[in-house]
Amino acid sequence: MVALDGPSGTGKTTAARRLASGLGAGYLDTGAMYRVATLAVLRAGVAEDDETAVAALVRRAGIGVGTDPAAPTARLDGADVSAQIRTEEVNRAVSAVSAVPQVRELLVAEQRKLIREAVESAGGVVVDGRDIGTVVAPDAPLKVFLTASADVRARRRSAQDAAEGRQSSPGTARESVERRDRLDSTRAVSPLRAADDAVLLDTSELTVEEVTAKLTELAEG
Ligand code: C5P
Repeated sequence: MVALDGPSGTGKTTAARRLASGLGAGYLDTGAMYRVATLAVLRAGVAEDDETAVAALVRRAGIGVGTDPAAPTARLDGADVSAQIRTEEVNRAVSAVSAVPQVRELLVAEQRKLIREAVESAGGVVVDGRDIGTVVAPDAPLKVFLTASADVRARRRSAQDAAEGRQSSPGTARESVERRDRLDSTRAVSPLRAADDAVLLDTSELTVEEVTAKLTELAEG
């Protein structure tokens, strides 16, 4: 299994999916699980900072993600919410929901189960997140932590928004990306950070093909 961590806009998700396809492995997007949890919280009208209510709601919500790298899907109570979890509203609320300790406990347990199942069915899995190398799978044989400059990350986020039909200016994208990374890096439980034994890869000057090639080399080496 490969643990792939880092902030948003580093090219992590695209490279992780391509790596998984190339290896014939499964792909687990743990960020999508926190996003589905956040969508459930927003739809229920529960305040993101009401930890007890958020935890109770997430415990009851049916959060499902598919592990096929060619077609990752996200479900809430059986309905496909793959597009609805990528809105700016979810971007704004997801760090608060994922900072709730009970939410992390529930989702980490589910992630470990999905990892076991993907390893059994596909022989391996690439796991994309923030705390995979440090908390979810500290025994992963390969851990990579991706970074990129704030400018590059904001540009990539804005391009991705445009490609997926969402409106966002580079300034808004930068503010959104930086705010989320600040919250994710400073939360009390499982903050975003590289594991001591992770390989650090700065993707600022690399294309997605180059990042995928580098990851494939690390995974096969
Ligand atoms: O990867 P993505 O940008 O979709 O993740 C959305 C959010 O989910 C992150 O900003 C972070 O707050 C949370 N997350 C997390 N732990 C993970 C993956 C994502 O807290 N393993």
